Amino acid sequence: MRLPPEKIEEIRNSTDIVELIGAFVKLKKRGKNYVGLCPFHNEKTPSFTVSSDKQMYHCFGCGVGGNSISFMMEFEKISFIEAVKSLAEKAGISLPVYTPEYDAIANEQEELYSACKAAGLFFYHNLTETSEGKFAQEYFHKRGFSNETIRTFGLGYSPNSWDSLIKHAERENIPLQTLEKAGLVRKRDDGSYYDYFRGRAMFPIFSSTGRTVGFGARKLYEDDQLGKYLNSPETLIYNKSRILYGISHAKEAIREKDYAVLVEGYADLIRVYQEGIRNIVASSGTSLTVEQIQSISRYTKNITIVYDADSAGSKAAMRGVDLILEKDLDVRVAVLPQGDDPDSFVGKYGGEKFLALLKNSVSFVDFIAQAFEREGYLKTPEGQTKAVRTIIQTISKIKDGIKRNFYIQLVAEKYGLYESLLHQELEKYIKIEKSRSEYQLVRDEIDEAQLETDTQNLNGSKKTVTTTENIPLAERDILHAMIDGGRKVTEFVFSNFSPEQFSHPYAKILAQEIHSLYETADELNAAMLIDSITETPHLQVEEIEAIKKLLTDLVFSQYELSKRWAEEGTTIIKGDAMQIARDALRTILLQTVQKKLEVNQQSMKEASKRGEDVSHYLQTHTQLLEEKKFLSSEKCFQK
Ligand SMILES: [Zn+2]
Repeated sequence: MRLPPEKIEEIRNSTDIVELIGAFVKLKKRGKNYVGLCPFHNEKTPSFTVSSDKQMYHCFGCGVGGNSISFMMEFEKISFIEAVKSLAEKAGISLPVYTPEYDAIANEQEELYSACKAAGLFFYHNLTETSEGKFAQEYFHKRGFSNETIRTFGLGYSPNSWDSLIKHAERENIPLQTLEKAGLVRKRDDGSYYDYFRGRAMFPIFSSTGRTVGFGARKLYEDDQLGKYLNSPETLIYNKSRILYGISHAKEAIREKDYAVLVEGYADLIRVYQEGIRNIVASSGTSLTVEQIQSISRYTKNITIVYDADSAGSKAAMRGVDLILEKDLDVRVAVLPQGDDPDSFVGKYGGEKFLALLKNSVSFVDFIAQAFEREGYLKTPEGQTKAVRTIIQTISKIKDGIKRNFYIQLVAEKYGLYESLLHQELEKYIKIEKSRSEYQLVRDEIDEAQLETDTQNLNGSKKTVTTTENIPLAERDILHAMIDGGRKVTEFVFSNFSPEQFSHPYAKILAQEIHSLYETADELNAAMLIDSITETPHLQVEEIEAIKKLLTDLVFSQYELSKRWAEEGTTIIKGDAMQIARDALRTILLQTVQKKLEVNQQSMKEASKRGEDVSHYLQTHTQLLEEKKFLSSEKCFQK
């Protein structure tokens, strides 16, 4: 779906970027701007800058930047259109329901979303309003789910038949191919379709923005031959390693409480949530992934894992601890009594007791020690050594040296061991860890090199320019001046210079974007440019990223020429974009003339060696000198 640019502009204008980002990042006023710790890379001193008058952000550490829409896209990991929608919602602006121009992939995604939404409503209706659904309702009630909870999580029932969803979809004009792509129906060999979920209790799975992307389905009938739980397959909108069950319901509470409770299953989550503990998410189905941790880390740096006391549960928890520490988050573990999961625990003892369990959660050091203790390891010196080694190995995953030392001290005290000994052991693991990550670095480089060769083969030529760092200073300044100076400066530049004359490919693309915006829009500013670049269909993802970085880097930096001039002791009227544009343009044109002069002279020399007539070279030479003189004079660019 494509929205008219004016609508996007309206939405962006009604959003205050400082307020928007301030809800996620602690911002402090510094001069005209606001600064904070960058949410996109790890840092200790703030280099993430937000400008209220420009309505843009830029990180001087990692180079990310953009406007409020791109912030939402990157922070929430959502598409352009989703970001616009969410900002529109915040600003109370209604969007056109349907526009005829569709973007192919966004369109397909939207179709899958609406198919899943329709299916979710259908299942909910079957649960709450049909006689067949009574049976499933009883099942949910027996599990302790209230009607309010059923509504909150959109639980449902898939009728015990081969075609009830299919028939419903036909009534709703949803193509069966779309249902198939959404993993809701399957195709038989003869080409006909059948419902995938039959006679099951349905748990919709939501994206972080709260849209239904798939389903978990629990068996209800004894004669159901399929497994206890069935899940939607991975689809265009359902990426299992990315989705964290419950995050859309929990994110506000997680931010507020500044920690997330992590459980395994969705039934666990729902039961605990019902008790008013809302900062809870579930890895559901998969073992915890790096992407899921990243998704939590947007809201808090603290995770409390709740796991079953059995050995499989402990192992999963230990793996989770390592992963969380590697991602630089803090982790605690709450261990349930033997034989209980969060669901059954809350059923037996209630929410207060669960809160107490969370309160009594232990550090990962104690958790590992306790696990070894339960297995009887701590009775022997060998077992103790093994436990300490495991703990040290886990500590080695922590990147922060101060934190590592803190835990080493803790272990030393606990086990009456010498710190120095523990440090020796730690060094060993850090080395292993380091060589592992170095290996990964080398691998990445190889992959990158491979990628580059692939691109070369594809284009048939070597791709040498991949960074924005080698853009000529004058070209940077011209782009900068146009962005700063708006239509007036842009008009001046393009009446003397075309986008194609930029030598650096990224500068050229940015110039082209400025040009097309100049031709189509009444206004011209950086925030608008970010949108049009993000939405440019023919650009590669890397190109879009590089150009966005270039753009925000320009907006948040000084003019290159003025920097250089400051060094040379010349003063310049700050912020006079027109003057900068004139000077930079003159520099480029002078350089071009100079180059032409050199080439011409070389050709003249060769021609005279061969004894040819050189008069037309002389003529060109004179012309170029004239041009050079004009460009250097005060008259240049004066109207
Ligand atoms: Zn950064």
